[in-house]
Amino acid sequence: MSKGKINVSVENIFPLIKKFLYSDHEIFLRELISNATDATLKLKHLSSIGEVKGNIGDPKIEIKVDKSKKTLSVIDQGIGMTHEEVKKYINEVAFSGAEEFLEKYKDKDNQSNIIGHFGLGFYSSFMVAKKVEIITKSYKKDPAAKWSCDGSPEYSLAKSDKKDRGTEIILHIDKDSTEFLEESRIKTLLEKYNKFMPIPIKFGMKDETLPLPKNAKKDAKPKTIQVDNIVNNPNPAWTKKPKDLKDKDYSEFYRELYPMQFEEPLFNIHLNVDYPFNLTGILYFPKVNNDLNIQKDKIQLYQNQVFVTDNVEGIVPEFLTLLRGVIDSPDIPLNVSRSYLQADSSVKKISNYITRKVADKLISLHKKDRKAFESKWNDIKVIIEYGMLSEEKFFEKYQDYFLYPTDEGTYLTMEELKKEIHEIQTDKDGKMVVLYSSNSEEQFSYIQAAKEKGYKVIILDSPIVSHLIQKIEASNDKITFTRVDSDAIENLIKKEEENTSKISDKEKKSLEDLITKIIPKEKYTVKLEALASSQFPFVLTQPEFMRRMKEMQNTGGNSMFGSMPEMFNLIVNVNHPLITQILKTKTSKKQQNLINQTLDLAKLSQNLLKGEDLNKFINRSLNMIK
Ligand code: ADP
Repeated sequence: MSKGKINVSVENIFPLIKKFLYSDHEIFLRELISNATDATLKLKHLSSIGEVKGNIGDPKIEIKVDKSKKTLSVIDQGIGMTHEEVKKYINEVAFSGAEEFLEKYKDKDNQSNIIGHFGLGFYSSFMVAKKVEIITKSYKKDPAAKWSCDGSPEYSLAKSDKKDRGTEIILHIDKDSTEFLEESRIKTLLEKYNKFMPIPIKFGMKDETLPLPKNAKKDAKPKTIQVDNIVNNPNPAWTKKPKDLKDKDYSEFYRELYPMQFEEPLFNIHLNVDYPFNLTGILYFPKVNNDLNIQKDKIQLYQNQVFVTDNVEGIVPEFLTLLRGVIDSPDIPLNVSRSYLQADSSVKKISNYITRKVADKLISLHKKDRKAFESKWNDIKVIIEYGMLSEEKFFEKYQDYFLYPTDEGTYLTMEELKKEIHEIQTDKDGKMVVLYSSNSEEQFSYIQAAKEKGYKVIILDSPIVSHLIQKIEASNDKITFTRVDSDAIENLIKKEEENTSKISDKEKKSLEDLITKIIPKEKYTVKLEALASSQFPFVLTQPEFMRRMKEMQNTGGNSMFGSMPEMFNLIVNVNHPLITQILKTKTSKKQQNLINQTLDLAKLSQNLLKGEDLNKFINRSLNMIK
């Protein structure tokens, strides 16, 4: 037996490992199983090129817990190591890897930022073990070796009588880490990190009931036998070729990823590139509602089928974090901080690639079966709007396909919308005016009024829509958006209805005086109009610009408009019979009541009548019908 000292430059690396990675002790298991997997894949490769002779069988990795001995073992049937290789790979390579990792990790700001704490490798076992043993037999003729280290920089290396090829790592679990001797804890970890690793992982045994033979007697009982309990699926869908998968396989894989998710995804995107970077994966579009935050962080990031993290921030564009599924790429640097990652050019390429693929998929679905795609629009539009807003590339690619739903249930692209409205919906600057409603119930009366004029109203009801509108207008100076209840609509309405007033200019003047006396000036700008076809005597509109700025501030834009008071235009429809009646009314008390009542009705129709005002309105109404 030989003894030696690990070449340590940081005098005692083990306390460091424990201290630095305190919150993430559990990753040791992933690291050890990754090593076991690598060793097994190498063996398979050597066997395939004839370097390893004979049948290697179907190598497995086994995880064993011995509660009485307080050990946890990871056993593989891979290439193993010779004496010399243990010296080289464990004492030198593994150690220098650990040291390098800790060097990066010492920077306090980086700690939680390093993705999945990848790269620490074998030495992470000292986070949970007071002593670690390696018993290993190489596929080469050399005798087996036994390495042992108790957490100090000294190790011992001796011969072992292990006969079969492979490596057994035995952790003597420390007293503050006994959780890792619990079967349920290990099960959870295997489920989290190793669910899709490429080599079968055995953890304990399970019962399996054999099917009855065809000629079995009627009262025959099926036989139950004990078989290896394999905890992973070594061939997950994303590692297969798209042409080998059917719709059913994609939805089954979704179930496998999210067993608690009962809703079916709307469609999926299979990612598969090997140049200039390596990336595979399957992304799913779930149904997305307006509450964006709770739906994030569902995409899982893997590296060669090893789970790394479910926080892909910095790797995929923000808007795509609303998707679900798996991304697997060995080309994403993982032992670096997120901020470094965002600046990394290969990560940028990956992110751009994913964005492009998503846009391509959406466009191809749009082209292939427009009706089917439209039926999904409401469930995915938020992702698309978010993407158009935040990713310039996505905006450029997708804006011609973006669908504008009308209140009649049809869906139009901007080009199609143009064909329908450009002749009648043009303002005095010659811009095409797109009329939209953000809430078809609350703005019902405005939508009706607009439609009576022959205008088309589209429904844009997502929370970020005012930002998106701003962006579309900025990139197209021939288009302007106007909400149905905003004042800009007057530009359109006036055109056809000028000079149809039924009351004289003198009457107009006295009406205006009357109303402005009663209605607070700081809140309402009174405008007299002849709206022949309008069903209401008073109509409230809001300056489009002001309202939009306020909305944008509410959804995270920076604007100084939020603190400004709400302003309305009060359009008085001089052609409405009630207005004539107000003019004719004798007592000013009655006039005042009528005006207030009419204003309240206008507010009511826009959901603006609340609190004390609502109470006053109810009392006034009761008095009137008494
Ligand atoms: P890494 O895996 O990143 O190279 P590790 O510290 O985890 O770093 O391991 C160092 C080296 O030790 C590996 O590169 C490999 O050569 C060797 N090794 C570790 N575990 C095994 C194993 N189970 N079987 C064979 N070789 C192993």
